[in-house]
Amino acid sequence: MNKCTAVMVTSTPAPVLAMLSHVRELRDGHVLCELGENHEDDHAVMLDDVDNGFGGAVWARWNETGVRTVLLSWCPAGPPEDRACGLFMDHGSGHGWEVIDPTPEAIRRELAKQYPDHFPEYIDDDRD
Ligand SMILES: [Zn+2]
Ligand SMILES: [Zn+2]
Repeated sequence: MNKCTAVMVTSTPAPVLAMLSHVRELRDGHVLCELGENHEDDHAVMLDDVDNGFGGAVWARWNETGVRTVLLSWCPAGPPEDRACGLFMDHGSGHGWEVIDPTPEAIRRELAKQYPDHFPEYIDDDRD
């Protein structure tokens, strides 16, 4: 399952937003949805990992009409291979370990064209 590609452009200046919410991956005034593609309900990005025994995090949820900030419990799904889901309870998509961001893969394929020695796994088998 690919990652949802929704982007939220924020009108709050990036440094202010980062200071207020400890945003993990703030990129010049926009954040990316962390859910899987075609998810149900609103888009979501985690703003702050609440580490006070609550067992959850602060998330921004948004849609075409607005943004809201909510405190949500962690998804309790039993993780395979000791990996946590990393999403909130009742998230409307696949679990975190099922959501794949295709961007790093696309970057590796581009780099393999220029530096094939560093990416032997991308060398075509049909070369002589
Ligand atoms: Zn989304
Ligand atoms: Zn989950």
